[in-house]
Amino acid sequence: MQVSSKLESTEYTDLNKVIGWFIALRWIAWLGVLIALLVINFTYHYELSYNILYPLNGLLFLVNLSFTIYYHVFKQRNLSRKEMGIFFNVQVCSDYTILFLLIYYTGFLENPFSYYFVFHIMLTSFIFSPMVVFIYVGALVSVFIAVSLAEFYQLIPHFSLNIAAISSSYYDLIFLRAVGLCSTLIIAAYLINSIKIRIEERGKKVEVELSHYKSLDKTKSNFILQVTHELRGPLAALKGYHEMILKEITGKIEPRTRETLQRASRRTENLLTIIDEMIDFAYMKSEEEVRYDKTDIRLKAIIDYDIDLFVNRARQRNIQFVSSCPKDLTIWANRDLLNIILCNLITNALRYSPAAKTITINAMEDNDRIHILVKDEGMGIKPEELPSIFEEFYRSQRAREIERDGTGLGLPIVKRAVEVLNGKITVYSEVDKGSSFHIYLPKKNSQKDKEEGHG
Ligand code: ADP
Repeated sequence: MQVSSKLESTEYTDLNKVIGWFIALRWIAWLGVLIALLVINFTYHYELSYNILYPLNGLLFLVNLSFTIYYHVFKQRNLSRKEMGIFFNVQVCSDYTILFLLIYYTGFLENPFSYYFVFHIMLTSFIFSPMVVFIYVGALVSVFIAVSLAEFYQLIPHFSLNIAAISSSYYDLIFLRAVGLCSTLIIAAYLINSIKIRIEERGKKVEVELSHYKSLDKTKSNFILQVTHELRGPLAALKGYHEMILKEITGKIEPRTRETLQRASRRTENLLTIIDEMIDFAYMKSEEEVRYDKTDIRLKAIIDYDIDLFVNRARQRNIQFVSSCPKDLTIWANRDLLNIILCNLITNALRYSPAAKTITINAMEDNDRIHILVKDEGMGIKPEELPSIFEEFYRSQRAREIERDGTGLGLPIVKRAVEVLNGKITVYSEVDKGSSFHIYLPKKNSQKDKEEGHG
């Protein structure tokens, strides 16, 4: 078991700072103990075991001095995580031991400062994983129980702090308890606030990193957008040339040449689809803040237009389109986004359906929403795959076998477009029976949206 692996996942540099913080706190504790001993010794003449307590305080001094030297010498070469883990454990063990001895020789459970263990537990929790913290707490509890029992059965001596018995004034004891309570309150407030500040600092760091990654993501999308735009032009021209040759505008062609050219044309078309998906994807990501202009759109026109784009491809595989949409059904939406949604869903329905099947596209009014349905009788989606299909670049194994040229971006694009239109998308699917994608869009967006759109 590696000690380092049990450290909480605090940032490496943060851990370095925490060591410095621990050492500083320990110096304060050493000074506090020394002053308390001197004050009690010379002002009140209490009979404490000074012959043990001063050396213990000296031991605390030496231990912390070695920690300070170790920390400063090794800070220069940066402690590895493993070394840090060991260093923290050594510090915690020595702190617990010295504090325990100090408490034991000054009345043990009588001593109001015994509550200082709470601070040590807080600091330990700040550094270590819950499991390690509970191991330390378990060890402490066991030692406390063992020593209490040993004192109870008088196996070991009790070093009394019952000052009232030896002191002339009853109020001395109250004073000591008051110091114990007040210092506990102040230290608790200090520690909790320091920990809070550290957590807030880390939160701010995470925010900065997040915005950095967001801007990187945007740069990546912009880059994809530029490259794919550049690629699209020559590819579209290539497709045009293929068509010209296939239509024999440039002269007669041999049947074998035709076959090869048809294959080349199909591959070019696939490549264009991929590029279009990537353009849509990058566009939707990079233009997040852009408002999409909305207008009143007759849905039937859009559906007919989009189906038209795919009839040839469908006909080649004897796939039929069936559509129904009331003629006058209108929606207040963005035309490009509606096209993106429908085209991607139709592309998938075609891709993942065997020959001679039917693809249904319906649009209907559903209270104040528009319900659009794209349904196929294709391969369907396994229930365990359903949660992943809207993730970027996700493609099922079966989809890869059926269609090599896919990007796994179609559905994420659809989802994003539906979200931009304040809609919802749901999927129902049965393996080998087919899939249906249901989209619900608000018929009209808010009045404000409408006014801005017209403006
Ligand atoms: P791609 O189609 O390029 O793989 P998509 O994001 O469009 O990427 O789809 C993600 C996955 O969802 C597909 O790989 C496929 O497994 C599944 N899928 C999407 N649409 C359908 C459908 N109509 N029928 C069956 N599976 C589908």
